[in-house]
Amino acid sequence: MDFSHFGFDKDIEVSITSVGYTAPTPIQEQTIPSILAGRDLLGLAQTGTGKTAAFALPILQRLIGGTSCVPRALVLSPTRELAEQTHQTFVTLGKRGSFKSMSIFGGVSLSTQIKNYRKLMPEILVACPGRLLDLMGQGVVKLNSVEILVIDEADRMFDMGFLPSIKKIIVALPKTRQTLLFSATLPAEIAGLARQFQRDPVRVDVHASEPLATISHFVRPVSQADKYQALRTVLHGINQGQTLVFTRTKHRAKHLALQLTNEGFEATSLQGNLSQGQRDKAMSSFRSGKTSIMVATDIAARGIDITQISHVINFDIPDTPEAYTHRIGRTGRMLRKGVALTFVTPEDRQVLKSIERFMGAPIPLVGAKAV
Ligand code: AMP
Repeated sequence: MDFSHFGFDKDIEVSITSVGYTAPTPIQEQTIPSILAGRDLLGLAQTGTGKTAAFALPILQRLIGGTSCVPRALVLSPTRELAEQTHQTFVTLGKRGSFKSMSIFGGVSLSTQIKNYRKLMPEILVACPGRLLDLMGQGVVKLNSVEILVIDEADRMFDMGFLPSIKKIIVALPKTRQTLLFSATLPAEIAGLARQFQRDPVRVDVHASEPLATISHFVRPVSQADKYQALRTVLHGINQGQTLVFTRTKHRAKHLALQLTNEGFEATSLQGNLSQGQRDKAMSSFRSGKTSIMVATDIAARGIDITQISHVINFDIPDTPEAYTHRIGRTGRMLRKGVALTFVTPEDRQVLKSIERFMGAPIPLVGAKAV
């Protein structure tokens, strides 16, 4: 199947070709026709599957014609990084159609954001819930013209405590609208959100709990005291690609990145204690390949799309199987091969068991040299 099958407007088709997509991914094949037909949709899919374009393309198509200068499509995102990335997808795919998109998130000057918003008057808003509520409270953003709502990474937003904010935002939207909800997993609260705010949604399930077929994952038994040494050995053995290292806490991420830098590795860290400017700097230096190692907390576990990430190392095992899926999903993107390695101490045995149950198979053991 190719994209011509969907009957997109010429401008959108040209944009698809110019970004180099030749065939739709499975989630795009399964969601685009229903979204174009105006149906509500509940999509169970990991990032890395082409999920963003799966909603961005039909939204752009549906926005053709009609009023501009008022928000007509609203995407709610859990993190600033994902909001920015999604906004960029709209910009790239909507460039020829002159669509205006803007991302809205906290940690940047409110007054500058208001000025930019008033100047641009975008029809597409990609927003983190907290800052959007601020702008709504100040009467800057009015959502009474929204035709399509996307709740992206809904399970992640729930984990981050955004559910009450999301509900407040939804009640400010017109009742007649299209609601698309994407989530990697479907905890009861998200199923409840779908029941409360969607109308007869089409359900599309792209194997949310399985790792992507392009990822080989392993565990390496190690004591807490030997972790650093083991990490150094693994990193010395990687001579190509980008490596994302996950730690349990912000402090450990910062400390580990410093330790690595002091030893001559090109490492940066991404964690919630950084200012927006510092986060942007860390992301762009990792994205451009200037630094080959990023040490991060779970803030980077979802949504971050860097195709060159060849290795994910869980320096600390994640707390839940869902978090494991998201972390390892940062590699093996768009059919590139990826390796995920998890350090497991004797205290981690229980969590490892629950991850293996979730995955449906034991994760192979390796020594550092084999990675
Ligand atoms: P996502 O799951 O939305 O984070 O997308 C992951 C990556 O896949 C992004 O780099 C997209 O640009 C890319 N992508 C999305 N759809 C396609 C497609 N049909 N063909 C090739 N790459 C795609």
